[in-house]
Amino acid sequence: MIKKYSDYSLKKYNSFGIDAKANKFITFSSEVDIPELFLNIKEKEEVLILGGGSNILFTSDYNGIILKNEIKGIDEEQLNENEVLLSIGAGEVWDDVVNYTVQKNYYGIENLSLIPGNMGAAPIQNIGAYGVELKDVFYTLECYDIENGEKRIFNLDECKFGYRDSIFKNELKGKIIITKVNLKLSKIGKLNTNYISLKNYLIENNLTTPTLSQIREAVINIRNSKLPDPKKLGNAGSFFKNPIVTKKIYDELNQKYPNLSYFISEDGLYKISAGWLIEKCGLKGIRMGNVGTHVNQALVIVNYGGATGEEILKFVENIQTKVFNEFGILLEPEVNIINNNQQENL
Ligand SMILES: Cc1cc2nc3c(=O)[nH]c(=O)nc-3n(C[C@H](O)[C@H](O)[C@H](O)COP(=O)(O)OP(=O)(O)OC[C@H]3O[C@@H](n4cnc5c(N)ncnc54)[C@H](O)[C@@H]3O)c2cc1C
Repeated sequence: MIKKYSDYSLKKYNSFGIDAKANKFITFSSEVDIPELFLNIKEKEEVLILGGGSNILFTSDYNGIILKNEIKGIDEEQLNENEVLLSIGAGEVWDDVVNYTVQKNYYGIENLSLIPGNMGAAPIQNIGAYGVELKDVFYTLECYDIENGEKRIFNLDECKFGYRDSIFKNELKGKIIITKVNLKLSKIGKLNTNYISLKNYLIENNLTTPTLSQIREAVINIRNSKLPDPKKLGNAGSFFKNPIVTKKIYDELNQKYPNLSYFISEDGLYKISAGWLIEKCGLKGIRMGNVGTHVNQALVIVNYGGATGEEILKFVENIQTKVFNEFGILLEPEVNIINNNQQENL
């Protein structure tokens, strides 16, 4: 079913809590609504698909049409003795999906517990945490092309997943509506406990042979101890991606900063901790007006209340400049910045 609103407040639809408005706001709850949705989009009108609004920064009112995806439902298909395929509506809340799989004893996404947002947005930046990414369990997704209304299916290779990246953040940015995501999960125990903070938590809590639920609980507890709850303090999680550099650049940096925080990525490149770079510039826990970096995690930018998107953007640019001047590295936002009706990652 479609519901239409005009001049609609977005405050409760973005985790930064920015008080912007949308010219037109339409919610839809079924794939059968899609043809009617397209009838509502005027030629050349700016369109934004919205999930949970937890990876978005509105820098002004949205002078176009926002389509809020509320397609629900989880269907199961047994692929074989050991694997199950879940077909998940794009409007399902991601953490509800994780909870569902843990209750059913399906392995694969427990490390991604408590990531805010909806199923449909998870492939956009290939969500990841505690050593697991969506791509590890991804099978296919179904979507509609906004330009011509055609239905398309993308497999793993076609999504071009990378670190917080996919084809949907690049060539296809803002061009498709994801309606369903299909994930392949395992029915036999294969836990991923290599990530250092998870490993330490398990040791400290004497969990030598943890169950699936215990891993979920561990991840939830670690996240709750480190990250601010957007319901209490507006934020969009990590604002920047960890920059990836070559060994040569890493060596140069490491000579100057021997305690540089980094990890080696799958492809042998060096991923430098963006939080560490910001902290080293003396910017952890600072506040400018209504905006600041979180006291426990410099990578998280917070709205102390009443901040505008423009104010947050200025703060972001200030951090980028200071980090660039100190380290010669331009921090790339992970958050989708909606600027003058256009989605930009600066
Ligand atoms: C406290 C906090 C912690 C976080 N921790 C993590 C983390 O550990 N790892 C991580 O990867 N991310 C993390 N995030 C970021 C965020 O949760 C994810 O990026 C999430 O997938 C965003 O989902 P959403 O539904 O809120 O997307 P939205 O913010 O609504 O949208 C994000 C982008 O996806 C597009 N989009 C949304 N739905 C669709 C659709 N159905 N079809 C097409 N395009 C669509 C939007 O147009 C936009 O470009 C965190 C955020 C917060 C606030």
